[in-house]
Amino acid sequence: MSETLAVVVPVYNETAVLEVFHQRLSAVLADCDMPYQVLYVDDGSDTAFLDQLQRLRDGDPHVAVLELSRNFGREVALSAGLDHADADAVVVIDADLQDPPELIPRFIAEWRRGYDVVYGQRVARRGESAVKRHSAGLFYRLLAYLSEVEIPRNVGDFRLLSRRAVAALNALPERHRYMKGLYAWIGFPQKGIEYVRQPRAAGQSKWTYPRLWNLALEGITSFSAAPLKMATYLGLVTSSLAFLYGAFMLIRTLLYGNPVPGYPSLVIIILFLGGVQLICLGIIGEYLARTYQESKGRALYFLKGYHPAGGAGSARQE
Ligand code: UDP
Ligand code: MG
Repeated sequence: MSETLAVVVPVYNETAVLEVFHQRLSAVLADCDMPYQVLYVDDGSDTAFLDQLQRLRDGDPHVAVLELSRNFGREVALSAGLDHADADAVVVIDADLQDPPELIPRFIAEWRRGYDVVYGQRVARRGESAVKRHSAGLFYRLLAYLSEVEIPRNVGDFRLLSRRAVAALNALPERHRYMKGLYAWIGFPQKGIEYVRQPRAAGQSKWTYPRLWNLALEGITSFSAAPLKMATYLGLVTSSLAFLYGAFMLIRTLLYGNPVPGYPSLVIIILFLGGVQLICLGIIGEYLARTYQESKGRALYFLKGYHPAGGAGSARQE
């Protein structure tokens, strides 16, 4: 039996790029010489876009559509796609053509050589502002320093996963899914392939700065408990400083008497310590909230419909 390929594409109102994307992807896949399927995971898009997806499926027997019950966010949409992708190799790609589908044959070649995870590594980010590039760079460095597994830098979700790598990801029960970290965490032989990341072909990026900030928090709290330890060290440092300052004051008072100055320094110290304590509480809160959410054990997502590949004539499951 020949090996099969599935391509998982999370989509959220990608009206402007869907057709172009699908054409480019299909052209590449047709040349791959493997039976393939393209699984579009609709992340709670508008009905107009859903109709567009259905028309695409009607016209192409390779297309399957998975509809989530609402917008769950890209990471969850991806997990839903991986849950439903039944193939020997699964490629994950965004619909906005920032990642070139033309790289897929090279992914497959490396996978045939025995790599379980083959990821695209960006050598340049085009069409992204300097601020975004720098903040991303800074974040990757911080995460690399904090986290216990090595998470490759400048790597997105664009990658190929072997069947056992997909099974491993699906076996992870956590609700907070920082995928970039999870890919690295599962282990297995992994390999990066360099490419130039293009600007979005059309449409708007859904990533706003608050969303990126939350993703960054997600990454750090999912893969490191270091911020929690920070409180301990911060406490040690401040109390040592307080002790030294106390000794200094004692000696100074013994030598020169005490003319009662120090009101401003008193206020500053009180405010500073109050701030430090609030920050530490906030950090504990971030972890606590995640523990709380995990402990509820809610389902990761719900499906509104699953339309398997096979085009217009095939049975539909609602
Ligand atoms: N996406 C999604 N759910 C969302 C937001 C985005 O499924 O809530 C999809 C989107 O349709 C696209 C991919 O995730 O295929 C990447 O989105 P985007 O280009 O906005 O992210 P960026 O590339 O800017 O990180
Ligand atoms: Mg994008």
